[in-house]
Amino acid sequence: VPSSTRRLVRLADGRALIYYDERPGREHGAVDRRDITPLRGASEIRWDALHDEWVIIAAHRQERTHLPPAEHCPLCPSRDGKATEIPDSSYDVVVFENRFPSLSGAAATTPHGDGAAGLRRPGTGYCEVICFSDDHATTFARLPSARLRTIGHAWVDRTRELLARADVDYVFCFENRGEETGVTLHHPHGQIYAYPFVPPRMQQVVRNAADHHSRTRRCLHCDVLASELRDGARVVATTTHFVAFVPVAARWPFEVRMYPRAHVADLPALDTAVLEEAVALQADILARFDSVFGLRMPYVSAWMQAPPVADRAVAHLYLQVFSVRRTASKLKYLAGSESAAGVFINDVLPEDAAQRLRDAGAHPTRQEVRTHVR
Ligand SMILES: [Zn+2]
Ligand SMILES: [Zn+2]
Repeated sequence: VPSSTRRLVRLADGRALIYYDERPGREHGAVDRRDITPLRGASEIRWDALHDEWVIIAAHRQERTHLPPAEHCPLCPSRDGKATEIPDSSYDVVVFENRFPSLSGAAATTPHGDGAAGLRRPGTGYCEVICFSDDHATTFARLPSARLRTIGHAWVDRTRELLARADVDYVFCFENRGEETGVTLHHPHGQIYAYPFVPPRMQQVVRNAADHHSRTRRCLHCDVLASELRDGARVVATTTHFVAFVPVAARWPFEVRMYPRAHVADLPALDTAVLEEAVALQADILARFDSVFGLRMPYVSAWMQAPPVADRAVAHLYLQVFSVRRTASKLKYLAGSESAAGVFINDVLPEDAAQRLRDAGAHPTRQEVRTHVR
């Protein structure tokens, strides 16, 4: 990101906020004069020996803002004497440290505890909020291409900067949308988590990709992509550099994985034009989700970047989008088989989901994306 388009300011409690502008020359001189004090969390990371995974215990977050009415939205710009998290009266994209973080950059101490019963260490890491627009009512799928580009560049900037910190092992850029996915604020925004460990799901993917590579000398992701393209039944949309498809064993009623055709590990590794194409196709997929039932789909949209520790030969970036909505009036809940045994039962045939997402077509404002159906 050219430095003229990135401006860092400090909020009243010392948290960092960065404005990412589409045009240079904006001042963003507004000062946060709220009477707020630092709320450094006391979260803890505990290791579950049975599942070989870390769990974040963040009991201090119970007091956070929950679904405030639009006039009290903390992500809208500050206007008419109403001070929000964003001091300026307008913005393109902003990123700032979450006031109620699940992880916060507390000084690391040695892990303690008994290995078998589980290790415990402070909840180091970082949680940032990214606001996609100062328009409270818009959605990611409807953002103009210039804005999508700015968001892509902000993700790359955050990934680079956060990974450069000693206590960060993984950067996760994602959006939860809809109360059904646990969203506490309606304003169009996503989150950026910088974990001090590789998330279990990603660890599993890396392990499987490494196994596949040692057997075949090929990238597992490249092989999956090639076979999806050969089959074609689950392909939803393609562009010059990307393919979006419903995974053959989709766990969610509507689920899409989007891969760069080239073997690329993470967002910073994409060329600028390719990054812009990626975010544009992401918006196209989300528009299709909204069109399936003609109502705003709850969804999770998450960039699965390869962790820096992974061998580059097996590291392949992908976007994962899924919804818990299975019909216009029914949601998928994680019941015993899913949450206790880890076995998902999907009520929607992945090939049917792909057909519906193809039929849903692109949102009219997404025409410039040049997506086409095979
Ligand atoms: Zn708002
Ligand atoms: Zn690959």
